[in-house]
Amino acid sequence: MSTARILLVEDDPAIARSIIYTLERDGLSVTHSLLLGDARAQISRQPPDAVILDVGLPDGNGLDLCRELRAAGSLPVLVLSAQGEEIDRVLGLELGADDYVSKPFSPRELLARVRGLLRRARMPMAMPALASGPFEIDAEGQRVSLHSFPLDLTRREFGLLTELLRHRGRIRSRDDLLGAVWGADSDSTDRTVDTHIKTLRAKLQEAAPEHDYIVTHRGMGYSLKV
Ligand code: CA
Repeated sequence: MSTARILLVEDDPAIARSIIYTLERDGLSVTHSLLLGDARAQISRQPPDAVILDVGLPDGNGLDLCRELRAAGSLPVLVLSAQGEEIDRVLGLELGADDYVSKPFSPRELLARVRGLLRRARMPMAMPALASGPFEIDAEGQRVSLHSFPLDLTRREFGLLTELLRHRGRIRSRDDLLGAVWGADSDSTDRTVDTHIKTLRAKLQEAAPEHDYIVTHRGMGYSLKV
């Protein structure tokens, strides 16, 4: 496996130094941008395997770049957030980051998140195309449509939907979903699952307003009614 290349966009020199040190010591190759403009140039020159993105940057808001990247493709993005209350927005419909870490964070925690991101991005989807009722899934391209309406899902939303589809009609607990979609070593919480279910449900309802495919079982988890 070739060395994964990470683009770090962070203007605080102390934070950047500690991140670069930790990631490089773990064998990752890191390119560092202090500015959004430079990051955009780097990405168009040579797209990295993942982006670590600060929010407050001297020439703009990192979330703008997050939105652009999400609109352009599926490059994994981890947001370094200073504002906990923005999490729903960062992970949600509008911005669709793959993960976030709130400042202050430990470099080890960040490394674990980056490793998780890379692992999921490289995971071969050893799964035949799934067609189930109104859903059609092209596992390889991670494209899903509902009633032939293409859905624009983040990696996590895609993971949740396929996990629920595989076990359709049965209740999956938040723990089941965390394990299947985020991995056993994740320190994400039930709230992370709820946030992504919320955005997934909104996208499904956009495609099929008359249905509510995701059923919430209070205190137990979620199931998919197809
Ligand atoms: Ca900053």
